[in-house]
Amino acid sequence: MIRPGCTIGILGGGQLGRMMAMAAAQLGLKAHIYAPEENSPAFDVAADVTIAAYEDEAALVRFAKAVDVVTYEFENVPSETAATLSAHTLLAPNAQALAVSQDRFLEKTFISGLGIAVAPFASFTNEAELAEAVEKLGRPAVLKTRRFGYDGKGQVMIRPETDPSEAWAELGRAPAILEGFVPFEREVSVVAARTASGAFAAYDLCANEHKHHILDTTRIPAGVSGATETEAMRIAKAIADALDYVGVLAVELFLVTENGSERLVVNEIAPRVHNSGHWTLGGATTSQFEQHIRAVCGWPLGSTARLGRVEMTNLIGHDADEWEQILAEPGAHLHLYGKAEARAGRKMGHVTRVFPEKG
Ligand code: AMP
Repeated sequence: MIRPGCTIGILGGGQLGRMMAMAAAQLGLKAHIYAPEENSPAFDVAADVTIAAYEDEAALVRFAKAVDVVTYEFENVPSETAATLSAHTLLAPNAQALAVSQDRFLEKTFISGLGIAVAPFASFTNEAELAEAVEKLGRPAVLKTRRFGYDGKGQVMIRPETDPSEAWAELGRAPAILEGFVPFEREVSVVAARTASGAFAAYDLCANEHKHHILDTTRIPAGVSGATETEAMRIAKAIADALDYVGVLAVELFLVTENGSERLVVNEIAPRVHNSGHWTLGGATTSQFEQHIRAVCGWPLGSTARLGRVEMTNLIGHDADEWEQILAEPGAHLHLYGKAEARAGRKMGHVTRVFPEKG
C-alpha cells in the first residue's frame, strides 16, 4: 500500500519527470529522479536524485530499494533496465507496455490483434521483401524504423519517385516496417489512465497540430462526432485492459473522413504522460500528472472533467522568450521547464488557455 510520505521513483529527468514530481509532491509523496544527465530539469523539484546510466545495474538496484514504486517518462527504457527494476520493486506501467510501444512492428501487430484499425503495414528483412512490400501497400507509403523513432525522426516517405532501397539506406538499413499512407484529416489523441484494479478514466479527445514534426497546439474539444469520441475511448480502454496497464497512457490516432463519415486509425501508443495531455494542467479538474501518480499508487482516479474549451501551445526554442507577455495575459497558464539553453526544436515550456464554452 502506497501512502503519502512514500517515494515515487521516476526514470528520466526531463519536463515530464519534472511535472510528475511536482504532482507527487502535491499529494505528499516524495520523488526520486533517476537520470544520466547532470542538470536534468526534474532535479530542481525532486527530493532525491540518482545520476547514473540506465545500464548501471548496481545503481538501478540501489534506486529500486530506495523507492516504493518506479515509473518512467519515456518509452525507450531498455528491457534489461525494466527487468532489473521489476525484480526489486513495482514497475508501472509494466515491462510489456514498454516492449510493445518500443517496437513499431510489435505495436501494430498487438493493436491489430485486438481488432483495432492501424495503418496497413508490412515487415521486411531485405531489399526484395521491401520491394514486395512497396508493391503491396502502394505509394505514397512511410518507411519507419522499428525502434527509436520520434517526432518524425527515423522515417522516410516513399513517394512515386523514391527509390525504396535508397530510402532504407538513409535509415542505416535498421530493422524497419513499411506503412501504407493514411489520408488523414486530422491527428487526435486520447490520454487515459488505468489502475491495477481496472479503474479507467479518459480525458476528452484532443486534436493535435504539428509544426516541423513537433507538436505545436492541442485543442479540446477535438470537434469530432459523439460516436467517434466514444469509439476513441473504447479503443484506449481496450488497449489499456489488454496490457493490464497501470498509469497514464496516450493513444495517437488518425481521423479519416470519407463521404462524410469518420473513421479512426491508431498510429501509436505512448506508455506515459504525453505532450497532448499537458492541457489538463489548468484545463481539467485533475492533471494527467496527478492522474498518473494516483494510478501508479493504486489510489482512486481523479475527475477528468474539462474546465472549458482548452488550447495548449508548446513553447519551442525561443518561443519561451515571450514569457513576460504570456504572464501578462489574464488566465493564461504558463509552464516553463527550467532548461538553461533554448536550442531550436527544444521544448522549453507550454502555455494553456481555457475559454468559457458556448451554450
Ligand atoms: P510517428 O513518428 O509515427 O508519430 O509519425 C510522425 C508523423 O508522420 C505523424 O504524426 C503523421 O503526421 C505522419 N505519419 C506517420 N505515419 C503515417 C501514415 N501511415 N500515413 C500518413 N501519415 C503518417
